[in-house]
Amino acid sequence: MTEREKHAGALLTIDLDAIRDNYRLLRRHAGQAACAAVLKADAYGLGAARVAPVLAADGCRHFFVAHLDEGIALRSYLPPSAEVFVLHGPPVDTELEFVRHRLIPVLNSNAQVAGWRRAAEALNNSLPAVVQIDSGMSRLGLSPAEVDAWVDDPHFLRGIDLRYLMSHLACAEQYDHPMNTMQLSIFRAARERLPRCPASFANSSGIFLGSDFHFELVRPGAALYGIAPMSGADNPMKPVVRLQGKILQTRTVAAGDRVGYGATYRAPTERCLATVSVGYADGWMRSFSNRGAALVGSIRAPIVGMVSMDTCTIDVTDVAPACLHPGASVDLICAQQPVDAIAALAGTIGYEILTSLGHRYHREYVGAPTAGSCGLAAPATELSI
Ligand SMILES: *Cc1c(COP(=O)(O)O)cnc(C)c1O
Repeated sequence: MTEREKHAGALLTIDLDAIRDNYRLLRRHAGQAACAAVLKADAYGLGAARVAPVLAADGCRHFFVAHLDEGIALRSYLPPSAEVFVLHGPPVDTELEFVRHRLIPVLNSNAQVAGWRRAAEALNNSLPAVVQIDSGMSRLGLSPAEVDAWVDDPHFLRGIDLRYLMSHLACAEQYDHPMNTMQLSIFRAARERLPRCPASFANSSGIFLGSDFHFELVRPGAALYGIAPMSGADNPMKPVVRLQGKILQTRTVAAGDRVGYGATYRAPTERCLATVSVGYADGWMRSFSNRGAALVGSIRAPIVGMVSMDTCTIDVTDVAPACLHPGASVDLICAQQPVDAIAALAGTIGYEILTSLGHRYHREYVGAPTAGSCGLAAPATELSI
């Protein structure tokens, strides 16, 4: 055990080989379409600095983030040949930052398109962009009326090199949700009326809806990180994350003793409890109170009482005492208890669990040639591409 590992209350292990294998599986499913990778929110909390070089080394050329600053950071982890797309487009008056860092904006409104046109004019250069249209999610992108106006305006994209027409699916994780085909036909109809260019439509789940949804570029995020792409179906992705907490101390409580804030749990009989050094400040949700469990070896140890900021308490009555010394590790997220399962328990989705994982953990990256546990990005120049 390293010093850092000894100091930390919990260990988060991120399997870069699994991310790479998941990327390969998605690329195979995407058929003729190019397969991008979505690395917003620091690669869904798993560390864009470590994930990006692994995917670039495996041939990924298109990377998406949400914010400008995420794009600027991501640039430094990637070889120059990679393209970085920023989903939210330029905040007001930041167009030149995009140009300086060679970031490609997703333009979501007439105002963003106008700003990008002005930047192209000012620089007397054509500037690449993606334009998003809203096909039914009502979140980002040009509205149907704005698409109509675009069709009638030959100068709408003056100075803009339209790389992809894009839209986003609202219900793709449900195979037969009527929104899927409805959004597809709206997107197709818009494409036919607009200037010819490649298109991008599918997120992770959209890839599994079939080739009609693939177009020229697919944009998976969650499935790369092991989250199940389709609800109600087997998860074809490899697990990426393992979260292990450490036991701080154990105690035996008598029948009737209370546990934790609010005294919400009372021991029905004499029980053996262990206090684990992971709490809601670590992204271990308070909604796991009195419902989740840890695994000690293969034994399920239910969470009893409220999860507090830095700790949770588990019932280890069935666990061999030899496994219960201070510093012993217990599994909170692992292959037997995957992200999606604990998310369901908390009434949320795997995305929120991953992006909530805190930064107090000792992080260990395993697998992939550029991996190590120092937490630093491999310089792009070290990549063999
Ligand atoms: C987050 C996001 C994605 C990736 O979605 P997943 O469901 O994580 O695969 C793709 N496109 C857009 C526009 C997004 O916001």
